[in-house]
Amino acid sequence: EAEVCGDLGSRIMVFVRLRPMGKKEEEAGARSCVRIVNKRDIYLTEFASEMDYLRLKRVRGRHFCFDASFPESTTQQVVYSTTTAELVEGVLQGRNGSVFCYGATGAGKTYTMLGTLENPGVMVLAIKDLFAKIRQRSFEGKHSVLLSYLEVYNETVVDLLSPGRPLVLREDKQGITAAGLTQYRAYSTNEVMQLLQQGNQNRTTEPTRVNETSSRSHAILQVIAEYQVKDSNMTATRVGKLSLIDLAGSERALATDQRSQRSIEGANINRSLLALSSCINALVEGKKHIPYRNSKLTQLLKDSLGGPCHTVMIANISPSNLSFNETQNTLHWADRAKEI
Ligand code: ADP
Ligand code: MG
Repeated sequence: EAEVCGDLGSRIMVFVRLRPMGKKEEEAGARSCVRIVNKRDIYLTEFASEMDYLRLKRVRGRHFCFDASFPESTTQQVVYSTTTAELVEGVLQGRNGSVFCYGATGAGKTYTMLGTLENPGVMVLAIKDLFAKIRQRSFEGKHSVLLSYLEVYNETVVDLLSPGRPLVLREDKQGITAAGLTQYRAYSTNEVMQLLQQGNQNRTTEPTRVNETSSRSHAILQVIAEYQVKDSNMTATRVGKLSLIDLAGSERALATDQRSQRSIEGANINRSLLALSSCINALVEGKKHIPYRNSKLTQLLKDSLGGPCHTVMIANISPSNLSFNETQNTLHWADRAKEI
């Protein structure tokens, strides 16, 4: 615990969330290959089917350890308070922060970030908490909360609150912003859930699967808290920004195959996800030059990744042995991010 708390400011906090086994997986005869111990340690087991494929034999195991690992029974509220509550506090102090959900398609990223009407996720719980904290401090000054929700798909940036033409990124004194992006002034949590669900409906879908969000789509919610303090003779403004990111599916994102170390670069690699990995690698290696410019996603997150910002990664995984490779890749990636 002491190690975690000692250098909180400088390093990425990395969490893993295991989702429950799905119906389809159960029907396909999937077995759980992930075990979480002590809320931190993860044991991943590779099974090899014998001649009798019903009797699966354990052949290889791997152990990982993260700041916290959430078993399948973990509630949305616990995930929020462990991973993000502190960043919300920071935003009110004028700091920037970001929370990413990383993992293969179907691993639980959107459930964790957006959630459902009955079980709202990190995005909604963060805004709810922000409003609660603002109410407690209303005597201190005037606060306002501005929301933007955007998508990066195929290196095109779209406003999810007001879909239309692609947005152009501009760099000015404030950093890199999307020109014309809607900034919705929010007053209550209730309206926000509706707004985000609606925004999510606007995410790009694959032509073949009309109701399913494309696995290549990144969704970014930016929550800006502005705070004006009035002294007897001066007005000061404090601004903090929290970025909550539901990343594209990571299944084809790695630059190299973990086993063969071969480059698997090809048409299906997601440029923004690859660029995010490169930035994280550069941060891990302590490089001076961080290649933010390589993609739209990393440009948008330039002021929220690395440096004095608080960054949180939530790696989402499925328990199924049928997803073993994806889970292993996700845990390797998360393990690497831990080094920052
Ligand atoms: P992703 O966004 O990573 O592709 P989803 O969030 O859409 O994955 O999750 C895939 C399915 O699993 C959805 O039906 C979702 O409701 C369900 N699911 C994911 N995580 C959980 C969880 N922690 N508890 C219950 N159901 C979950
Ligand atoms: Mg999703």
